[in-house]
Amino acid sequence: MELITVSKKTEKHNPELAAIFHQMASCYRYLGAKHRFRVMAYDSANRTINNLKNDISEYAGKNDGLHELKGIGESIGEKIIEYLHTGKINTFDQLKKKVPLGLLELMDINGLGPATVKTLHRRLHINNKEELIAAIEAGKLENLKGFASKKVENIKRGLKLFKQAHSRMLLWDAQRTGEDILQQVLQLPGIKKAALAGSLRRKKETIGDIDIVATADKKDWKKIVTRFASLPQTDRVLAKGDTRAAIVLKGSGTQVDLRLVQAHEYGAALLYFTGSKEHNIALRALARAQGYKLNEYGVFDAVTDRKLPGTTEEEIYRLFDLQFIPPELREAGREIETARKKHIPGLLQLKDMKGDLHLHSTWSDGADEIETIARYICKEFPAYEYIVITDHSPSERVAHGLQPADFTDLFREIERINKKLGKNLVKKGAEVDILANGSLDLPNELLQHLDWVVASIHSGFKKDNTERLLKACANKYVNCIGHPWGRLINRRDGYDVDWNKLFEILNKTGTAIEINAQPDRLDLPDYLVKEAVAAGVMIAIGTDAHALTQFDFMQLGVSVARRGWCEKANILNTHSWKRMEQFRKIKLQWGNSDKL
Ligand SMILES: [Zn+2]
Ligand SMILES: [Zn+2]
Repeated sequence: MELITVSKKTEKHNPELAAIFHQMASCYRYLGAKHRFRVMAYDSANRTINNLKNDISEYAGKNDGLHELKGIGESIGEKIIEYLHTGKINTFDQLKKKVPLGLLELMDINGLGPATVKTLHRRLHINNKEELIAAIEAGKLENLKGFASKKVENIKRGLKLFKQAHSRMLLWDAQRTGEDILQQVLQLPGIKKAALAGSLRRKKETIGDIDIVATADKKDWKKIVTRFASLPQTDRVLAKGDTRAAIVLKGSGTQVDLRLVQAHEYGAALLYFTGSKEHNIALRALARAQGYKLNEYGVFDAVTDRKLPGTTEEEIYRLFDLQFIPPELREAGREIETARKKHIPGLLQLKDMKGDLHLHSTWSDGADEIETIARYICKEFPAYEYIVITDHSPSERVAHGLQPADFTDLFREIERINKKLGKNLVKKGAEVDILANGSLDLPNELLQHLDWVVASIHSGFKKDNTERLLKACANKYVNCIGHPWGRLINRRDGYDVDWNKLFEILNKTGTAIEINAQPDRLDLPDYLVKEAVAAGVMIAIGTDAHALTQFDFMQLGVSVARRGWCEKANILNTHSWKRMEQFRKIKLQWGNSDKL
């Protein structure tokens, strides 16, 4: 395979290339079962590229760099090189002639498989999403054979989530895009300070637009706005004025707004554009009551209109005799009242984390060997004192779940690695399935030998799952409930749970609840985290990492915890392993279900 020279370091190919491979997989899926190996190959290439730490061109620039990536064989490797050279892939162009692009988009809608899409295309001549919506509205689907009303309902729900996904992106994606653009803004000549604002700064789970507030001398504004509008990522310019510009990014279609203010207005502007709107309204009301006027330019005396000093957010909050309110809390709940009483807690920080309690290795569906993971953690997360390998259990056949007999070898492997590392970093765990009747798919005789047991639901998402979860809590070997709600943001709604009941039993049995930090899970969500903590439940943050780059998701878990008002003490894995063992011991002493 030929090497390519890395020309422009800033160029980012991964998102577009991953999207092409995803669409190629969809094409082959549509074309039928005889292409199933191609479907698997392109799905796997899509996942690999999405998980890369560096741009694909950097791997392609190294001898054998592409071959060393999981799921990239000779044929796909050649297509990557072709794409890097020419910006397109000939095979994909050919495929697009066979499968209309609109149909590929349809297959991304939850509830629409290739067979359904084919039927819709052949029988109702539906070519895209718009035509599907029109057909549903005209009641045409109900007349089709095999389209029961429940199926039509599922398609409608899928369409709704699909629409949501295209207007609001995941926090993780927004964070990466936002930080990238922010770095470029900071390099524009004349910029003194710049920061991300809006819901991205508040770390909401999904983000609409990206907002950036920056300061510069007024004389430089015009030049800055022009330079911003012509950043290499710009697809089109929505607005270009004296003080602001709005662009739409290539590929993702994300809107980015830049607002320029003078140095002395920076704090007020940042506060204003960070929001939330409700927080701003509450703050302005408080200002009025104190004889001030607050807007995006500053704080003013309501009578004389004189501007009060205060160029930072901290100074502005202080003017109103409030404690500084971290952006994650600015949602017009109880934060202003709490800040007035000076009771805003010291929120959890990333550096408080002492370990990861949920991750997968090649022993089930993870991409990396345990030893590779352990060495990576030692290097990249030196503060971690422990990581728990929680590979899947037998019911997860697609994920190559472990059989009870496999655990002897697994234990031996973990002990070997710890010995080699000279410390007990790697702990023995499992992610067991909570079956339909609430029982687990691994026996207690095995679970008792594990250091940490996460129990999760992986099937039956449409019913109320409270009873299943309660029964799992009743097992004295279960330490944590994994991704408790089962939702996938923008793709699948969570199942019904009686949260009050669940929190009560978690607390009673000494079982923790997880914040699963996968970007599309963030499960528990922030508002339920707040309720769980209030009910006395301990929180465990797990990345559920299936590849090395996913350990960075810990920062997302921390963001959710912060939005849930968590302090360090509320989070189990900010503690030493000794404390973790005590937590487990209390549950073992408590016994089991007959006490519920
Ligand atoms: Zn899981
Ligand atoms: Zn998992």
